[in-house]
Amino acid sequence: MSLVPVYPWYRIRFDDGTYFNYGGTQTQIESEIARVSPGDVQGYRRLVAQSRDIFDVGFVQLGDKPFSSVASMVAVAPNMIRLKSFLSVYQMVSLYIKSEKLRQVFSFQPLLVGGNPFTTTSIYSLIQHVERQWGVFYAMGGTGAIVSAMEKLIRELGGEILLDTTVDEIMADGGKALGVATADGAKHVADLVVVNGDPPFVYSKLLKGTVRKKWTDKKIEKLQYSMGLFVLYFGTSKQYETTAHHSILLGKRYKELLKDIFDRKVLAEDFSLYLHIPSRTDPSMAPPGKDCMYVLCPVPNLQSGVDWQVEGPRLRDRIVSYLEETELPELSKYIEADFYVTPEYFQSELLTAYGTGFSVQPLLTQSAYFRFHNKSEELENLFFVGAGTHPGAGMPGVLCSAKVLQNLLSPGSLERDAGGNKQYDSHAKVVN
Ligand SMILES: Cc1cc2nc3c(=O)[nH]c(=O)nc-3n(C[C@H](O)[C@H](O)[C@H](O)COP(=O)(O)OP(=O)(O)OC[C@H]3O[C@@H](n4cnc5c(N)ncnc54)[C@H](O)[C@@H]3O)c2cc1C
Repeated sequence: MSLVPVYPWYRIRFDDGTYFNYGGTQTQIESEIARVSPGDVQGYRRLVAQSRDIFDVGFVQLGDKPFSSVASMVAVAPNMIRLKSFLSVYQMVSLYIKSEKLRQVFSFQPLLVGGNPFTTTSIYSLIQHVERQWGVFYAMGGTGAIVSAMEKLIRELGGEILLDTTVDEIMADGGKALGVATADGAKHVADLVVVNGDPPFVYSKLLKGTVRKKWTDKKIEKLQYSMGLFVLYFGTSKQYETTAHHSILLGKRYKELLKDIFDRKVLAEDFSLYLHIPSRTDPSMAPPGKDCMYVLCPVPNLQSGVDWQVEGPRLRDRIVSYLEETELPELSKYIEADFYVTPEYFQSELLTAYGTGFSVQPLLTQSAYFRFHNKSEELENLFFVGAGTHPGAGMPGVLCSAKVLQNLLSPGSLERDAGGNKQYDSHAKVVN
């Protein structure tokens, strides 16, 4: 697959109609800061240094290490205290940045991994450094191109993939996973079962007949879950050439809106949006002269009780009107096709608990050792990988969790052999 850099990484639109182009070189970012709030350039440099320190510990040292014992957590505690992990991302940013607009620019990133910037541990400020270190990229052909590349790799390595097949049960006996039973009635016996489904769902629904010692229904219920997502996909009969590939459209409220979504769990009338236009970078994504887009709106998960049959069409219309007033004039006239998904889709199709978009929230009390372990405590030979495990959601996070898993299953196998080749198990079966 081919990855191409995107600039700006994001264009952030504030509710008063002003913009901040985030991304590029340090000089480009600093000149944008100076335009919005000249007094914040020095503070930004100190914030950059702090997020690099956090990155060195949180990503380089710990991003691909398992946290399966209390001792592993105790070992990192001094570093976590030194780096002030007990602060939230917003509190950390506010130590360095005075402008409220810029505080939003440099603190919204936890939303990309399912967290509220006001409660997510500041360890996740490392995302800022990840962006600066490598930039923001787009996979030509869209995320589907990444999936196809993965599929090709799995098949080349001798793996088998069963599509449109739901795992109904993780079969077990005597505390050991024996394989999986699928909805079509088939039983697949296996030496190891690795799950990248949502751990709360898997533990509560798929371990039929296993008495759970740690992940009881009561414990699972008490976890703090990430938000839900309303995603509207649409194609336009014209191109909006001046709109960036990635835009964040911030609404009037920040902290209170996040409280509505995460704590009060009510669907507010206002919102903040992320607008993605892949055809801005990749002409193959839309017919000539047209655009394809999606707009993502963080919403409460299904613990809210929102009736999406009623609210879905209303929210769709509110979002289209807002986009018309802000980035995409006369949008309703130019929409050729559209559809949306709500948290109900995430629950019924992707099988996440409460229809969350990112499993459990990345709180300090739900990170590292306190997140779902890659090696299950309930069954021998059952392993987890993906958004619900350390280090968390988002592609970089889930790929790191794959490395954690690899380190657990086959220590040293990520190292190259004498011939410079990586070692892989070539007998995997993927059920999806
Ligand atoms: C609209 C949107 C945009 C995003 N954009 C980005 C981005 O730009 N960059 C980024 O880094 N991250 C992005 N993310 C987040 C990222 O996609 C996820 O965090 C990541 O895909 C999680 O990977 P995963 O393997 O844990 O789970 P998933 O990718 O959700 O895969 C789990 C799969 O398991 C299947 N499954 C679950 N249970 C069963 C079962 N019982 N039987 C069979 N199959 C089952 C599900 O159907 C699903 O296909 C985005 C997410 C969304 C929703």
